[in-house]
Amino acid sequence: MPCAHLAVHSLTSSVSCADPRITPENFLGLNFAEAAIIRNGGGRTVDAIRSLLDLDSLGNIGTVVVIHHTDCGMTYLSEEQFHDRVEENHPDFAKTHPDYNYGAINDPEKTVVADVEYLKGFPSFAEKMTIAGLVFDTFTGELKRMV
Ligand SMILES: [Zn+2]
Repeated sequence: MPCAHLAVHSLTSSVSCADPRITPENFLGLNFAEAAIIRNGGGRTVDAIRSLLDLDSLGNIGTVVVIHHTDCGMTYLSEEQFHDRVEENHPDFAKTHPDYNYGAINDPEKTVVADVEYLKGFPSFAEKMTIAGLVFDTFTGELKRMV
């Protein structure tokens, strides 16, 4: 299976936002099949950890690059506003997940550091992997390493 083969041989993993403007394979200059790209709303590591654990079980995932970005949709609503929207649109989910963390972002420079720290909080991650945190400027394309 090509997908499993790809994961086993990836040397880099990227956790980044699902925003269609954020394409780490392009702005990191990655070649085809060079990295596993994990994307979710905001590029939050709490969501991505299952995929990272799975990739690590399949092979060495090497460097993990966490990327948050300016003008992220996750900065448009507060955590409380996300809760309100989900209660309105998905009352069934909201009722069974009252303390759910929707991952609102105030400042991508701070959340990317917090998300790297979340991964490094697990000694097995800190020991096995190099974990970096970058902020991508959505308008200029500039990458800034925060950690
Ligand atoms: Zn985003």
